[in-house]
Amino acid sequence: MDAYVHIAVGAAIGVLTKSTAALVFPAIDEECGPSVLCKLARSIEWATVYGTGLTGGVISHVLLDTLPHGDYLAHYGLLLPDSLWLLREFLAALLILLLIIIGLRGRIRLVALVAGIGGALPDLDNLAIGMGWIERSQALSPSHSGVWPQGQNLGAISLVCEMGVFLLALGYLYFYGRRQSG
Ligand SMILES: [Zn+2]
Repeated sequence: MDAYVHIAVGAAIGVLTKSTAALVFPAIDEECGPSVLCKLARSIEWATVYGTGLTGGVISHVLLDTLPHGDYLAHYGLLLPDSLWLLREFLAALLILLLIIIGLRGRIRLVALVAGIGGALPDLDNLAIGMGWIERSQALSPSHSGVWPQGQNLGAISLVCEMGVFLLALGYLYFYGRRQSG
């Protein structure tokens, strides 16, 4: 799946992680005062949130790769010529990161960014394979090394799957951002 989809889904997982963290760590958003123990506890809580978001992003990438998809941006050029597919992917990824920065506020924005980058992180496999640095069998993600079958392009089903998860993630981020600012 294209990197921008992975970033959007990862970021949505980050927001979900932070917004449910209050159930596990009810005081996570409260200031500590001079207590060192409180600061330590707060650091552990935030590290858990960031770690869970990042891990969730990476796992979502591996799972999403097994859904039917078409890598539309990589394979079907828009505006830029086909040879510049990597630049297209990069620009779209940047745009989504920018939307997250604009749309969200406070620390949840940082959690969303970390988890979104986590979502795109396994694509370093594809970059390394494309550049000839590693063999496909050496890829870390089971969805890239061939251990797990990649989701195929099944026409309309793939389009619905890939755009469906993208729009769901984007919609969730949008409504969360609206609620935050409203
Ligand atoms: Zn992938």
